[in-house]
Amino acid sequence: MSVRTRADLAALPGYVPGRSIPGAIKLASNEVSLGPLPSVVDAIAQAATQINRYPDTGSGELVARLARKLAVNGDEVAVGCGSVTLCQQLIQATCTADDEVMFGWRSFEAYPILTHVVGAAQARVPLTDDHFLDLDAMLAAITPKTRLIYFCNPNNPTGTAHPRAAIERFIEAVPSDVLIVIDEAYGEFVDDPEVPDGMDVAKAAWAAGRDNVAVLRTFSKAYGLAGLRVGYLVAPAAVIAAVNKVYVPFAVNAIAQVAAMASLDAEDELLARCRDIVGERGRVRAALIELGYDVPESQANFVWLPLGERTAAFNEHCLGQKVIVRAFAGEGARVTIGTPEENDVFLAAAGSFPR
Ligand code: PMP
Repeated sequence: MSVRTRADLAALPGYVPGRSIPGAIKLASNEVSLGPLPSVVDAIAQAATQINRYPDTGSGELVARLARKLAVNGDEVAVGCGSVTLCQQLIQATCTADDEVMFGWRSFEAYPILTHVVGAAQARVPLTDDHFLDLDAMLAAITPKTRLIYFCNPNNPTGTAHPRAAIERFIEAVPSDVLIVIDEAYGEFVDDPEVPDGMDVAKAAWAAGRDNVAVLRTFSKAYGLAGLRVGYLVAPAAVIAAVNKVYVPFAVNAIAQVAAMASLDAEDELLARCRDIVGERGRVRAALIELGYDVPESQANFVWLPLGERTAAFNEHCLGQKVIVRAFAGEGARVTIGTPEENDVFLAAAGSFPR
């Protein structure tokens, strides 16, 4: 007799990570191309001498640091093993089998997988024709079962971001017992002044007595720590308490905690890198449009090419030119902004794709 595992998992698509191929340029995972700062590597090396000890399971020092930086209380911050783990904890903390998680689609690939694994239902609301979350359709799709809404701003993979007024209107229209999580994995790459800092939106909502808004962020992208797995959630204390209940003990390792703090120390330098990436994003988008591609304006460290049925061919063509992009067959390709040299190789590949 073989072991009986959950039958429903057979039909569950696994999370597809961006591919890595030796010698190829990887523009598939929205990482930053430049390596870690020497000060961060030094902090990691120092922390490595203590790894015979368990980490601080509550990431106390990092939580306190983040709380100070964001001007919130320590009990309004939770740290997780990458923000993706906090996504899972949020679902576990809000949903049982009778409940539903809502998100735009397409959005971050892990939302539906995690929702299924937790055992909740999902409401995927198609994006608008111009690749934005369809906020009106999302509002219309809310039911008494809805417990959690992922509002990915900027949205992965389309890069589109909503302005403050639209987000505030949305928040006001959502029932106050439904948690809205503004996922700002790419927030540091926003340069449109109309697009708000989610913390400002959350604080305004809290001040107005709405305790159903949270902000999710990560050290993986702008802070260059994708390999160490650390992200954080800022939310009203009751939400943080629930999220911490479903935390797997010691999930955030000691080196990640130290590296996150060293990255906060080096924030100015890291955010300057983000500004360079934003500059490159503008250059890449303009060049693609010049080549005849449709490219929605992106506020993230990637661009979206809605190539529809030509996506698979584009992906193969780029691979042939040793550039790895992230293709969603039948929909489009997401391309991370790399160094100027990497972007040039990608643009050459895009230029030689038969159109
Ligand atoms: N949210 C969004 C929108 C993302 O794109 C990602 C990573 N692809 C994450 C969360 C998770 O990132 P991490 O677990 O590395 O913090």
